[in-house]
Amino acid sequence: MDFSVTVQIEMRDQGLQKKSKKPSFSSNSLLSCTHVSYPSGLSWVQKTLTYFRFPQLLSNKRLVHGVFTRVGGLSSPPYDSLNTAYMVGDTPDNVTVNLDKIKKTIGSEHLMFMNQAHGNAILVFGQDHNGLPYEVPSGDAMITNIPGIALMVKQADCQGVIIFDPERCVLANVHCGWRGNVNNILGGVVTRMKKDFGCRASDLIVAIGPSLGPCCAEFVSHKDIFPRDFMTFMVRENYFNLWAVSCWQLLKAGVLEENIELSRICTRCRTDLFYSYRAEGTTGRFGTVAMIR
Ligand SMILES: [Zn+2]
Repeated sequence: MDFSVTVQIEMRDQGLQKKSKKPSFSSNSLLSCTHVSYPSGLSWVQKTLTYFRFPQLLSNKRLVHGVFTRVGGLSSPPYDSLNTAYMVGDTPDNVTVNLDKIKKTIGSEHLMFMNQAHGNAILVFGQDHNGLPYEVPSGDAMITNIPGIALMVKQADCQGVIIFDPERCVLANVHCGWRGNVNNILGGVVTRMKKDFGCRASDLIVAIGPSLGPCCAEFVSHKDIFPRDFMTFMVRENYFNLWAVSCWQLLKAGVLEENIELSRICTRCRTDLFYSYRAEGTTGRFGTVAMIR
């Protein structure tokens, strides 16, 4: 993968989409709004909820998935409206209704999510492993081969990364912020899929969702927090392409370049569609959901 070309394309795309100020947001008006642009190359669905699917993942009939926007939920500002997280200050009953809407859309009664900790804990729910936990577990990645269990990652600038092995029907959903990149959690998940389920890295299909783009990923203290080899991915002073970092880590783990899909949507630039911690501070979390059927 030629990262320099990728970066240029991303910078240009994001520049075109960039909003000069935070838009006033209403889920109902957004649905009827004709000037909202939906990034191309993805399969968008606008029904009760607005979400998109990655084309390569969508072609796998054993997999159901959706990256849900903030549109169509019950939560009030600043959590408007499809907030998936209980721990951000939103009204819990509204979050429960939002999660029920997502469950209905995906077609599952079982929605698994984590207390995400920006660490490198990988949770495995396999038919030959521990059963499903009764309480919300702490961790940043989930792997399962159990059909009907929907795995959800919650984000506002971090990456939600879906990894699927269509040969052995094993699914992972990963929360990867910059600390996840520093911990190489993506490489860790590929290793666990190989070790615990016999997956081959070359079979894996990966999709990297909306998150902080190279246009907005400023890290002024990068010398203190990033390993030196991340400097390859600095696109201008203090700005990093974390999408490219994730691709590089996946390639190092043996994933094939043609099996990696990127949404190329920057959350900080698109607060009309997604939540952004950097843009909004107190805000909700959108959900990236995947399930083996
Ligand atoms: Zn941006």
